[in-house]
Amino acid sequence: MLSQNGRLKIAVQKDGRLTEETLHLLRSCGLEFEFPKRVLATSCANFELDILALRDDDIPQYVQEGVADLGIVGENIVLEKQSRVERLLRLGFGTCVLMLSVPARSGIRSVTDLAGKRIATTYPASLQSFLTEKGIIASVTRLSGSVELAPSLDVADAICDIVSTGSTLRMNGLRPLEQVLTSQAVLVANQESRGHATKGKLIERLLIRLGASLEARGKRYLMMNAPASAVPRIREIIPSLKSPTVVPLADSDMVAVHSVVAEDVFWDVMENLTSAGATDIVVVPIEAIIR
Ligand code: AMP
Repeated sequence: MLSQNGRLKIAVQKDGRLTEETLHLLRSCGLEFEFPKRVLATSCANFELDILALRDDDIPQYVQEGVADLGIVGENIVLEKQSRVERLLRLGFGTCVLMLSVPARSGIRSVTDLAGKRIATTYPASLQSFLTEKGIIASVTRLSGSVELAPSLDVADAICDIVSTGSTLRMNGLRPLEQVLTSQAVLVANQESRGHATKGKLIERLLIRLGASLEARGKRYLMMNAPASAVPRIREIIPSLKSPTVVPLADSDMVAVHSVVAEDVFWDVMENLTSAGATDIVVVPIEAIIR
C-alpha cells in the first residue's frame, strides 16, 4: 500500500536518541519544517515531504507496508525486525554495537562457551541468527528492558545488548565477550515507492541532498596565500590535497591555494603550513558537496 496524497512521507523517531540528529540532517538539506512535540505528522514548507513522528521500533514495519515511503532508523532495528525495506544510505550517527557480554568474573571466555547457557536480550532474532551461524545452541530469553541486570538476578548467564561507550556494562560488572553486529542510523525505503513515478523522483532528489550534506560533514574549505615555490611542500603537508586550486595573485611570486580538507587534518597540519610559508589561512564550513 502506498501513501496516497502524492507527497513523500518519511518516518523519523519521535523522541529518542536519533531524533535530534535526524532533524538536523533533514534541515541541513534545506528542508524547512516545524517538529512540535505530541504531533504525529508535520509538513515541509519547501519540499513535497511529510514527516511522521513514530516510535523507532515501528518504523521498519511502517516503511515495509508503505505507510511511510522512507524512514530513518537504527540499522539494528531493521535487522532485528527482518524488514523487507531497501537500505539506501548510512547516515553516520547513532553508531552502536550489539554486544554479547558476561559478568566480569564469569568462566565464559569465548562464544563457544555459551553453548547450553541462558542469554537475555531485547534482540532475540539478531542473536539467534548469530548463534545459528556459529553453530551454538543456547537458551535465548527475550526481555524488554534493563537487560544488564539479568545476570545479577540470576535470570541469565550472559546478555546481548546495545552498547555505545561501554559505561553501562562496566557499571553493572559486565565485560564484553563478542560483537554480534554494528549499527548506525540508516535511511530506508519502501520498495514500491522507489519505483513509483512521482515518489521515486522525489526520493532521488532527496537522496542527492542527503548525500551532499553527508559528504560535507567534517570537511572544511581551506584558503591560504603562499609563495608559488611552496606549493609542492604544502601538498606534502596536507595528504588529502591531491589537486588544489592554485590561483595567481597580483604579486607574481605568490599564489592562493584553495582546497577541501578534513577538519581534523587541518588542525594537525596548521603549524607546518605556516612554517612552509602559508599566510592568511582562512577556514570556512561547507554546507554541501555535490559530486
Ligand atoms: P533509543 O532512543 O534509546 O530507543 O535509541 C534509538 C537507537 O539509537 C537505537 O535503536 C540504536 O540504533 C541507537 N543507539 C545508539 N547508541 C545507543 C545506546 N547506547 N543504547 C541504545 N541505543 C543506541
